[in-house]
Amino acid sequence: MTTSVAMSSQRTGTADTPCTFCRIVRSGARDVRDFGTMVAFLDAYPVSEGHFLVVPKRHLADYFELNDAEQSDSVRALRDLRVTLLEADSNITGFNVGVNCGVTAGQTVEHAHIHLIPRRRGDTPDPRGGVRGVIPAKMSY
Ligand code: AMP
Ligand code: ZN
Repeated sequence: MTTSVAMSSQRTGTADTPCTFCRIVRSGARDVRDFGTMVAFLDAYPVSEGHFLVVPKRHLADYFELNDAEQSDSVRALRDLRVTLLEADSNITGFNVGVNCGVTAGQTVEHAHIHLIPRRRGDTPDPRGGVRGVIPAKMSY
């Protein structure tokens, strides 16, 4: 019983074990954009300017826990944010969309999220391989 209460606290982000993204979702802050079952906000430690995170309102462990509505709203959010970013910055010439699922895959925040990372020509000397760089030695092929 005690264990299940503790686990539940961790999953939902209560006062005992607050989840950073649950707090942002609940904050109602103006810079948290609403996409139905999802929200989007700027990453606090961006890989590039305009790096957004698309996050379910529900506390879910990772992308694969999203239901159909959340997946659909995620796609809508990514498309919408892409247009917004392109309109705001003519130097954006590409995007990476990335999801880290599990600690092994590099996930550091235990609340599902999708990264939308705008890219600009020359932002790294050799971008070839993109997300293959999760294992740096395998990036180039
Ligand atoms: P991941 O490593 O895929 O779990 O990504 C977690 C992301 O959350 C990182 O890119 C962090 O920069 C970002 N992050 C961590 N804390 C915050 C925060 N308080 N607000 C916004 N982004 C955050
Ligand atoms: Zn959470």
